[in-house]
Amino acid sequence: MFYADYHTHSSFSTDSETPMEETIKAAIGLGMKEIAVTDHIDFDFPDPAWPFLFDYAPYRAEVERLRGIYGSQISILLGVELGLQRHVYGEIDQFLKDNQFDFVIGSSHCVDQCDLCAPDFFVGKTKEEAYEAYFEDVLYHVEHCPVFNVYGHIDFISRYGGYEDKTLSYAQYAPVLDNIFRALIAQGKGLEINTSGFRYGLNRTHPQVDLLKRYYELGGRILTVGSDAHKPEDIGADFAVAYELMKEVGFADVTRFQNRMVRK
Ligand SMILES: [Zn+2]
Ligand SMILES: [Zn+2]
Repeated sequence: MFYADYHTHSSFSTDSETPMEETIKAAIGLGMKEIAVTDHIDFDFPDPAWPFLFDYAPYRAEVERLRGIYGSQISILLGVELGLQRHVYGEIDQFLKDNQFDFVIGSSHCVDQCDLCAPDFFVGKTKEEAYEAYFEDVLYHVEHCPVFNVYGHIDFISRYGGYEDKTLSYAQYAPVLDNIFRALIAQGKGLEINTSGFRYGLNRTHPQVDLLKRYYELGGRILTVGSDAHKPEDIGADFAVAYELMKEVGFADVTRFQNRMVRK
C-alpha cells in the first residue's frame, strides 16, 4: 500500500505554527513517499479572530522551495482544505479558477454560518436533529459545490455538541448518508480516512468504520488517508490503524492525485 499523508497543516493555517519544512521532514522521517500540504481556506469563517485564509503566492513558493530541497526524497502535493459554506460558493469557484492545486479537500467546519466548535448550532436541537441537519448540509455541498477531490472528516459533527454519548451509527442516518455516498461516487469524488479522531478522544477514525463500509458497498473506491496534523509529531499518527481498516473494508490501496485529478 502506498504510504502518504494527504491531510496536513502548516503555519499557513491560522491554527498551526508549524513551519511547512518541519512537516515535510517529519514525513520523510516516517518513510513516506508523498505528502499533501492542505492548509485551511475557510471563506467568511464566523469567528473573525480565526480568519483561516492564506495568500496563495507565498504558499505555492514555499511548496516549490521545499520541492527543490526534498523532491528526490518525497513528492509534495500543493493542496488545500476548503471550508464549504453555501454563501461562499462564488468565492470558492473564483479561488480555484485563479490558483492551481494538486489536491482539494472539501470540509464542513460550519453549518448555517455557525462554527461547529461553538455551541450555537446545537442550541434548540436534539443530538439527532443536529447530526441530521449537518449531514443534509454535507449532501447539499456534494450536490452543489463538487469542487473537491475528497470530503474531509465526513462525520466531523460527532466531535462536537458536548454530548456524553458521541456515537453515531450509519443505521440512524442511513437515508442521508446513502444519498451523500451515491452523490460522491456519481461525481467521481471520494472520502478520506482522517485519523484525528484518536487525538480528539473519540478513539476512532473519521469516518467511523460502518460509514466507510457502506461507502465501499455502494461502489466508493476513491479514498485518501490523512492525519490532519497541525504539528510535526502528528504526521502519520495512527496510520497503522487506518491502513488496517482500509484493507479490512476491501480497498486495494489509497488514491493518489495530481492537478486535482486521480493519478493513474
Ligand atoms: Zn478540517
Ligand atoms: Zn484539517
